[in-house]
Amino acid sequence: MKQISIKTTNKCNYACDMCHFFGSEYVEDYFGNRPEFHKDMSLSEVETILQKAKDAGVETIDWTPNGEFFAYKNWREALELAQKYNMRSSLITNGGLLKEQDIKDAVDLGLSHVAVSIDSVHYETYKVVRKPASKQAFENAINAPILFKQYSDSKISGGGGGIYVQVQFTEQPENKNEVQDMLDFYRPYKLNQISVNKMFIVYEGGNKHIGVDFTPAPYKVGTCKLYGGYMVQTNGSVIGCCGELYFYPKLRDKIPNIFKQSLEECKKQSDYLYLNDETFINYCKNCSIYSIEEDDGFEEKFVESGYFAIRHTLSTRYFVIPEYLRSIPDDVLLFMYKNNMVSAIKNFKKE
Ligand code: SF4
Repeated sequence: MKQISIKTTNKCNYACDMCHFFGSEYVEDYFGNRPEFHKDMSLSEVETILQKAKDAGVETIDWTPNGEFFAYKNWREALELAQKYNMRSSLITNGGLLKEQDIKDAVDLGLSHVAVSIDSVHYETYKVVRKPASKQAFENAINAPILFKQYSDSKISGGGGGIYVQVQFTEQPENKNEVQDMLDFYRPYKLNQISVNKMFIVYEGGNKHIGVDFTPAPYKVGTCKLYGGYMVQTNGSVIGCCGELYFYPKLRDKIPNIFKQSLEECKKQSDYLYLNDETFINYCKNCSIYSIEEDDGFEEKFVESGYFAIRHTLSTRYFVIPEYLRSIPDDVLLFMYKNNMVSAIKNFKKE
């Protein structure tokens, strides 16, 4: 086990309609049905988990909560603890709370990978999909990836920095025509990746992506590649994949807890449920994120608007093309990407 996720808080600065935890359009009262999640972790609880994770060989902590990591008042101390245990930190944030100094602090405290969820670079759209977003929160959010990249790059020569900066865009009816605007907006800043994801909704007993003609392969017990991303909830419950959050109330009494057991014991108990529990298996049969191969749903690779892109049915990932290669015709560039020639050139130029 090389990575686990620790949810230090379930608070969020927004309550977006699309959100499965806070959104008004979600089918259930998420926290009402999971009242034990309604707390923040103490720093001593965080440290207990990190000690157990270290014993289990974990190297990276993902701090993405079912809410917003930067709404956790002790986020600096949590990142500091990960440094103390010599672990890497990664997270997904909506960026709305982030001032420049927060970004500098997070980079200085060893963040190695950040993904900022930006669903529009236009305030008129942003305030509809991110509620309630002030103009200041919008500006914080759209500038956060740029500042993460710039501050991190400025530290490389002195050691440190070099973090992987990603923008995530979830396609929704309100923003589906704005992908190009976002790609244009971020192109000059050379972020490491921009991903455009299809939105998925949760219903009683399953989940599905909207606006996509995609049926996952028939479920075969024990084969989901997404299982095994163990997540420690704010009350210490350990679950084995994000799909499990949605039927957690039905399994509550069988779910392991890291405050009572070692991480290895939690893993064993969780794996047993995944492989044998009828509720778990039945949910998996209706889970649209079930995946068995790295390249499930692969459709095409292409070059467009200064980016090299890889499209899968449920998401498209864009990688900015270095300026010194942009004058090369698209078909030649695509050939170079497909044959790993661009990576070799970037290595040669030490990028
Ligand atoms: S199919 Fe869904 S619920 Fe089942 S293990 Fe995979 S991600 Fe989890």
